[in-house]
Amino acid sequence: MNRLRDTFYLHALGDGLGEYPHLLVEKKPIPPTDDTVMTLALLEVLAESGKYDPQRVVEKYLDLYLKGELQKIGYTTYRALERFRETENWFKAGIIDRKAAGNGVAMRIAPLGVWSYLKNLPLEDFYEYVRWEGYITHRNELAISGAFAVAYAVYFNLKENPREAGITVKKVIEILEKLGIENAVKGAVEKALKLYTDGYTPAEALPLLGTSGFVVYTVGSAFFLFLKGENFLEGIKDLLEVGGDTDTIGAIYGSLTGSLRGAEGVPEGLIDRLEVREKIDTLIRKLLS
Ligand SMILES: [Mg+2]
Repeated sequence: MNRLRDTFYLHALGDGLGEYPHLLVEKKPIPPTDDTVMTLALLEVLAESGKYDPQRVVEKYLDLYLKGELQKIGYTTYRALERFRETENWFKAGIIDRKAAGNGVAMRIAPLGVWSYLKNLPLEDFYEYVRWEGYITHRNELAISGAFAVAYAVYFNLKENPREAGITVKKVIEILEKLGIENAVKGAVEKALKLYTDGYTPAEALPLLGTSGFVVYTVGSAFFLFLKGENFLEGIKDLLEVGGDTDTIGAIYGSLTGSLRGAEGVPEGLIDRLEVREKIDTLIRKLLS
């Protein structure tokens, strides 16, 4: 199914163009940043081992980091990987502190939404896996809630194929409520929906939602762009106009949009320029085999 593959194409595009805006005009290869490298690492473990195994996932992250293929990672992820080197235990790696409320889990979580869809996971298992993925690096409730909101939206898009993004966003709010997650992440998703419904433009809404690496801001802005995003590239340009953590917001916006609308309307030439295109194709084949 193409929306499944396009989830990762658009994630990689949002990431690469968010980090390197000049590639919107220059016809050069579009490289991934840490958001996409970690996302594809998680996808690879799922495709290879046939289950979610946090120990294997963090081993893979560390391996990529040591090989120099995972660069410019966030400080919390860096500290967690250092701790994992010492403890060799995924459950002991993650960081507990204020900085751990970052977007480092939300930016790489899309494969668990895809996995939950493919395996028809019970909600409890799905939520638990997202928590474990959080525990690897960010032992922080907001970081985990933000990641779950993103993963659930991807899952819901693939499973239900709703006719518009608003249906997905309302469902995310409903599920957070159901799980008793009454925190700032839920507030940010509600605020994004309200600003969208009230007709705010991205230039008006994104500064109100925030665009830093704080997970509450990142997730709010990514959901707003998803709601707004009839045209994927326009959303990326709007995001770049406002600025902030544009690679990560772009990546999350990409996986939300790709899982709902596919790569429809995105020029094929742009996807061809993705350095990770073949890797995505290979991993999706493996995942579905
Ligand atoms: Mg990045």
